[in-house]
Amino acid sequence: MQKNMPALTAETVLDRLKSVKDLAPQAVSGIAIDAGKVVFAIEIDPADAKRMEPVRRAAEDAVKKIDGVASVSAVLTAERKAPPQMQSRQPLQKTSTRPVAPQVKHIIAVASGKGGVGKSTVAANLAHAFKAMGKTTGLLDADIYGASQPRMMGVRERPETNGEGLIIPPEKHGLKLMSMGFFVEETAPVIWRGPMVHAAVQQLLRDVAWGDLDVLVIDLPPGTGDAQLSLVQNVPLSGAVIVSTPQDVALSEATKGLLMFKKVNVPVLGIIENMSYHVCSSCGHREDIFSHGGARMTAEKMNVPFLGEIPLHADVRVASDAGATLKNAAIEETFKNIAARIWTTLPAEKTVPRPPQAA
Ligand code: ADP
Repeated sequence: MQKNMPALTAETVLDRLKSVKDLAPQAVSGIAIDAGKVVFAIEIDPADAKRMEPVRRAAEDAVKKIDGVASVSAVLTAERKAPPQMQSRQPLQKTSTRPVAPQVKHIIAVASGKGGVGKSTVAANLAHAFKAMGKTTGLLDADIYGASQPRMMGVRERPETNGEGLIIPPEKHGLKLMSMGFFVEETAPVIWRGPMVHAAVQQLLRDVAWGDLDVLVIDLPPGTGDAQLSLVQNVPLSGAVIVSTPQDVALSEATKGLLMFKKVNVPVLGIIENMSYHVCSSCGHREDIFSHGGARMTAEKMNVPFLGEIPLHADVRVASDAGATLKNAAIEETFKNIAARIWTTLPAEKTVPRPPQAA
């Protein structure tokens, strides 16, 4: 490490990018810096993709030359313009240097290897279960490809900002909530690239007045790609929970998730099997439609805790579609047991957030 090296900040990066030919500074967004790794996006017109590729490379080369930069990843993004009223809701103005949720004791990520396994549903119900245990709880919807928490929680209003410029998380069902869906419509045709996901989620962690929380549940984007990896590497997680259905394909994807967390040394708190078996909502008959038990076997094989089974039940879907809490005592109890098991495995001490930026 060189002495007297100037701090590596978004401003330093932007300043250096001014020297890149054909690159307008306002096209640069989502600069994220962590331990010498710099990622940023260059917004372009999709028609210009080919012409802008050399500019992208030149931008990477320019930033690589800054003292203290270990690696650079610039991506071209084509973001279709949101309707005017949505643009003014866009919170991503510049990279924040505030610490990550400093008064939050535990941040738990809920992940899945693929979409559609009920990850968001499980994240929401775990948050409710922590709340029911008497824990002050927040829920951060980082699944920005399909931000479903505003719908599942029944919150639509645009959050306000406080005097310090922090976004105030709306409260519903006793939970503090934050979602990109409050700023971008669930169906908005926005293309999110890895670094932009990372920058957006970082901002939702740093620039939100989370206050004192025992636990913040993060609903991660589905999958185990670069976006997820960058997220889990840069957020001070107490651990991760993996949601899978019992099917083979979902389980092999869940295994990839497990390996991703292991690779970056994030403790895997366990696997939850969702849609484990079917319970008929009228007669209560139970049926193992997807050869239930696969997640338990995977957990044993991978040597991680198996946390429990959630049945496929109409009450679960009805509650999430209505933005309501679950009205099924047995399933609620299962979620509470899972939350209690998770709680006992969390480290007693507060997770120490990593410094916001490499200096
Ligand atoms: P993901 O976040 O993995 O993409 P979601 O949580 O959005 O998946 O769930 C997909 C759909 O499945 C939603 O309509 C949700 O209500 C429904 N769903 C999830 N888990 C269950 C369950 N255990 N029983 C019934 N429906 C479920």
